[in-house]
Amino acid sequence: MNIDSISNGIVIDHIKADNGMKLYELLDLGSLACSVAIIKNVTSKKMGKKDIIKIDADIPLNLDVIGYVDPGATVNVIRDGKLVEKKIIGMPEALTNVIKCKNPRCITSTEQELPHIFKLTDKDTKTYRCLYCETKA
Ligand code: ZN
Repeated sequence: MNIDSISNGIVIDHIKADNGMKLYELLDLGSLACSVAIIKNVTSKKMGKKDIIKIDADIPLNLDVIGYVDPGATVNVIRDGKLVEKKIIGMPEALTNVIKCKNPRCITSTEQELPHIFKLTDKDTKTYRCLYCETKA
């Protein structure tokens, strides 16, 4: 894949440096069959250093995951070599099955079929708490 240009795919831009790998893992990009490139420590006028992820296919992405890891990231959708959509993410109000509650007494550890839901309880500190037991993420 030519990492400078994608004809059809997704570019996640403005990722804070070092968040690229975390996003890669949480989005499970390693399981994709298409080409995925992480470009780390790109010099950015606005951010100093940033990471960029390029995915060589137009796949559905869980934007909540991106917003959780890095609310400042932008998602650019490329079709036929043109930018057709630019999504500004921001912090999601709730996360479903993105992270797991670590409290062993939480109902989600015994009731396996329950979704793991976290709610944003404090925007300033980026605090998410388990919907069931209020344990911090
Ligand atoms: Zn819990």
